[in-house]
Amino acid sequence: MGGVVSRNRLVIIGGDAAGMSAAAKVRREEPDREIVVFERSPHTSYSACGIPYYIGGVVEKVEQLITRSPEKFREKYRIDVRTRQEVVEIDPAGARVRVKELDSGRESQTAYDQLLIATGATPFCPQVPGAGAGGIFGLSTLQSGIRVRQAMEQKKPRRVVVVGGGYIGLEMAEAFVRLGLKVSLVDRGTQVMGTLDPDMGKLVSDALREIGVTLYLGESLTGFETTAEQVKAVVTEQRTLPADLVILGLGTRPLSELAKAAGITLGAGGAIPVNPRQQTTVENIWAAGDCAESFHLVARRPVHIALGTVANKQGTVAGTNLAGDYATFPGVVGTAVSKVCKYEVARTGLQEKEIRQLGLEGVSATTTSKTRAGYYPGAGPITVKLWAERGSGRLLGGQIVGIEGAAKRIDGLATSLPAGLSVEEIVYLDLSYAPPYSPVWDPVQTAARQLLKKLRQG
Ligand SMILES: Cc1cc2nc3c(=O)[nH]c(=O)nc-3n(C[C@H](O)[C@H](O)[C@H](O)COP(=O)(O)OP(=O)(O)OC[C@H]3O[C@@H](n4cnc5c(N)ncnc54)[C@H](O)[C@@H]3O)c2cc1C
Repeated sequence: MGGVVSRNRLVIIGGDAAGMSAAAKVRREEPDREIVVFERSPHTSYSACGIPYYIGGVVEKVEQLITRSPEKFREKYRIDVRTRQEVVEIDPAGARVRVKELDSGRESQTAYDQLLIATGATPFCPQVPGAGAGGIFGLSTLQSGIRVRQAMEQKKPRRVVVVGGGYIGLEMAEAFVRLGLKVSLVDRGTQVMGTLDPDMGKLVSDALREIGVTLYLGESLTGFETTAEQVKAVVTEQRTLPADLVILGLGTRPLSELAKAAGITLGAGGAIPVNPRQQTTVENIWAAGDCAESFHLVARRPVHIALGTVANKQGTVAGTNLAGDYATFPGVVGTAVSKVCKYEVARTGLQEKEIRQLGLEGVSATTTSKTRAGYYPGAGPITVKLWAERGSGRLLGGQIVGIEGAAKRIDGLATSLPAGLSVEEIVYLDLSYAPPYSPVWDPVQTAARQLLKKLRQG
């Protein structure tokens, strides 16, 4: 083992959203820079976000989820992508990484000038009896999605249990219903979608029940029953649910062990702390994407939010800096959107429990109106909940559940949050209107008017 330290080589660990955004940016700025990417799966630049649609058959071929293959990166962009190679150690003193070739088991070392950690996150796996059995799947990489679809084709499951009612669990539950399977979902919360307040989550729970998903809420997972190392049932505190296939949707944790072993003290939720340029606390080591922290612009504290939107931006910022230019990632406001059954579900900023945790005094208003002018065909319900700070009237957060046309209204609120707009300013924003798109008062402004009234009443 050994290796000459190159002063020009950029090494990237992880070949998806953050890693390849950075690589592509550096290549555009520095045509001759040596870029080596280690990726332990066979794929690069894939859309994990598309996995539920691939499994549910909305997207037919897995290739449709791949933006750029390793071959394309090598040939067109001259980026030395090495797939099925896992970085197992970072040696900051020697400025090199130890790499294992997964097919041969061989190990070698590669020197770096600059190193970007873009290892992503991994599904949280509960430490309960039977958790290692076959037929239990978490979703993260494209490979993980391919494995589920293969299991569907080979084992022809009839009963699926989804454990955890976050957006990935819900998208998967809907996909399985579309395939005609019997789907149950277990969540220890009182409603699904814990990133919404319970009253908004209830709308989503009801929509899932309407399509035939059986919900077991307020129940914690205690283990799995298995036969011949295959899952047979999901066990909660209150019941045993027969299962041919289980999806874990219990959230993710950052893949930050390499960084920790390299001397980086981990931060929020075990993620890698970075400054706004995406530099870690160790010289010449950068981090971006699901493995890294972000700064929450409303809560004013570091958070770990694992989303593709953030990963792409952080990767581009890291790439800009690694190419010798200057860029900063300002932070996040916790914006997320998802399609669940008939509803579009969106949130931004702080929800009730976060407002309470931060010791802020919040006031909320919820209104239900229409996505279009009431007389225009296709108009349907949209419920908007807004939170503001008592006293200042500053917007703290918003949640939207509604039919088609509802979700992207969250972006106006996501823009208002870092701008520090008050509810009164939102009421009078010059938003667009025509009958096919909105009532004269946009549903977001209808909620803002209601909230303003409450704020004024004290
Ligand atoms: C089912 C699903 C649906 C989603 N839907 C949405 C959505 O609708 N909207 C949204 O914004 N986000 C969504 N996301 C999240 C989004 O996919 C991630 O935030 C994004 O992929 C993160 O990019 P990343 O590059 O940081 O990490 P990843 O995409 O996880 O990539 C990290 C890569 O690093 C590799 N790697 C890890 N460790 C090593 C190592 N030691 N050596 C070599 N390689 C390594 C991994 O194999 C992986 O390919 C979804 C995720 C899933 C799983």
